[in-house]
Amino acid sequence: MSLVESLRDGELLLLQFANPPVNGLSHALRSSLYAALEQADADASVAAVVLYGGPKAFSGGADIREFGQPQALAEPNLPGLCARLDAMSKPVVAAVDGLALGGGLELALSCHHRVVVGTAQIGLPEVNLGLLPGAGGTQRFPRAVGLATALQMVPSGQPRRAAQLAALPGQLLVDELAESATLLDQAKALARRVASQRPLARLRDRTVEAAPAELAAAEAQAAALPYPAPLACVQAVRGALELPFDEGIAAERAGFQRLMASPESAALRHAFFAERAAAKVPGIEADTPRRAIRRVGVLGAGTMGSGIATACLMGGLLVDLVEPDAAALARGVAALDKHLQAQVSKGRLSAEKAAALRANLRPGGDDAVLADADLLIEAVFEDMALKQSVFRRLDALAKPGAILATNTSTLDVDAIAAVTLRPADVLGLHFFSPAAVMKLLEVVRGAATAPGVLASALGFGKQIGKTCVVAGVCDGFIGNRMIDRYLEQALFLLDEGCSPQQVDQAIEAWGFAMGPFRMIDLAGNDVSWRIRQQRAKDGTLRRAQPLADRLCELGRFGQKSGGGWYDYEGREAKPSKAVAALIAAHREQLGRAPRAVAAEEIVDRLLLALAVEGERLLAEGVALRASDIDLVYLAGYGFPRWKGGPMFEAQRRGSEALAARRREFAALAHDDPQFWMP
Ligand code: NAD
Repeated sequence: MSLVESLRDGELLLLQFANPPVNGLSHALRSSLYAALEQADADASVAAVVLYGGPKAFSGGADIREFGQPQALAEPNLPGLCARLDAMSKPVVAAVDGLALGGGLELALSCHHRVVVGTAQIGLPEVNLGLLPGAGGTQRFPRAVGLATALQMVPSGQPRRAAQLAALPGQLLVDELAESATLLDQAKALARRVASQRPLARLRDRTVEAAPAELAAAEAQAAALPYPAPLACVQAVRGALELPFDEGIAAERAGFQRLMASPESAALRHAFFAERAAAKVPGIEADTPRRAIRRVGVLGAGTMGSGIATACLMGGLLVDLVEPDAAALARGVAALDKHLQAQVSKGRLSAEKAAALRANLRPGGDDAVLADADLLIEAVFEDMALKQSVFRRLDALAKPGAILATNTSTLDVDAIAAVTLRPADVLGLHFFSPAAVMKLLEVVRGAATAPGVLASALGFGKQIGKTCVVAGVCDGFIGNRMIDRYLEQALFLLDEGCSPQQVDQAIEAWGFAMGPFRMIDLAGNDVSWRIRQQRAKDGTLRRAQPLADRLCELGRFGQKSGGGWYDYEGREAKPSKAVAALIAAHREQLGRAPRAVAAEEIVDRLLLALAVEGERLLAEGVALRASDIDLVYLAGYGFPRWKGGPMFEAQRRGSEALAARRREFAALAHDDPQFWMP
């Protein structure tokens, strides 16, 4: 079947994309379109062509199913198709609704006229994959909307509404705005009007006006970013101003190929596919029955409960927030209100919408209301006996078919499920703090969790805008089990001669949003201190951390107490003399003379600690695939997206280099040889 349907309407040829869901420009579609254009050109009875998609999309761009496959670049490729449009002897009118993104927009820009629905999303998002638009977008788009707008949109990849772009003075992107219902009629009327007009209105024949201040600003902004695509986008757009069209196209092509071969683009494309792969879970099929989740009950209105309730409200769900301690409930609700208000003042939410969402909250102290909930999320203190008693109570209260979830960070989800009569309905939903903001949600599959329960939980996560990764049961799941090893290395580095700021600076310069010591100061050193104390009691503590314990004994919990590994004035971290003295005393006790540690060693010890533990999680089946682990770190731990994630980085280095580095670290007397050896 052709992916471009063709229909005659008098002297017009109507060509409609038919490649759901978003008319991705697959090889089959491109071939059909190319053939249809050839035919239209050759057929004397055709006076003009109208090219259109559906209400959902004109075209969302390249077909991601072909990404990385030979078909993606096979002839006719997208640049060739755009050149074919340039060579037409009769006008082609694009009728754009829904989306015109990436290659979809480049195709529309190669048509002679465009009728566009005002709400359509227009953009060139290639930079998000570390690329630049490679089918003339950097040359035609500035000619259509002006240099200044192109310099905002191409290096950022941010789409805009067509109506906004149509309002730009002198723009040539939109010939006419239309309503969805009348789009095709309007496009046909325009096609008839311009059928005999010559010369054809080609964007390639237009020139671009200079905007030196905007160009300099865009160049400076892009040059400050740690990956090459944004600056390459600016430079390609600059070509539209400075070069004849064909030379600009050649420069764009060269830039595209350079970026395609860059490690940063490889990493960003990996991240893109990691997001898609994470949704595919063994045992869950398209027809696995999902349970409807409309009303969520949240138990505990502390830091996490309040944040989880906020996230659920923002996702449009009805929420019961149950907390026996009235003061804690008031604090939790106040935090929730503060978050909603902040969304309003930042312009992300209208006051009316915020009020409507807030009206979906029922806060209270009586858990009887939870009988109505489709999903219950427990966020009480981290204590097994308490969690088990809460789950016995939930089991008695919840309606049949309700899903019971725990937000535990360290406890055994199976042991919690085991106290209920419905372990198949129990799973972990591990949110990250602050839960209303952080994207990551680890969905923890228990030994007995039913596929439909897992599928429903993933649907819930998506509804509230989270990036979901499925994990198996273990202490710390994926993210925290790995971060423990990373933090352990950070502490070894202090023992050996580094300062907290030296460690943080090294990994931040490599690309992390925040080094380990600033991170733990933000999260609160007391949290892991309490966990260590609990593990020492249970006999499950892997390794004592006397220096970190000492810090907490001094009340240096982190930002919240004005001091942790750093001193704080507000949020600003300052090197601490007290901590330097503490570390020096600790080294003396260990009998260690400090050595100079190179930034490269700091980075490698931290990164490879993540990758080594990640490998173990894969071997144990806790993580389903390496890209899931990468996604956890990208979405939840400030790992730089343009480096792809810890597993991707380790793979990039190659197994031999990795093994050699592991042997070196295993030989460090003070480190943990067993950890590093396979
Ligand atoms: P918190 O101390 O801030 O809040 C816990 C709340 O639960 C308190 O307000 C307490 O009054 C309430 N509570 C106690 N018993 C209850 C009961 N029977 N019914 C209803 N409410 C009850 O703790 P938190 O930081 O929000 O952590 C909650 C859970 O989330 C823990 O299991 C923790 O391990 C996990 N978690 C915490 C973080 C984090 O960064 N804080 C991140 C992920 C997961």
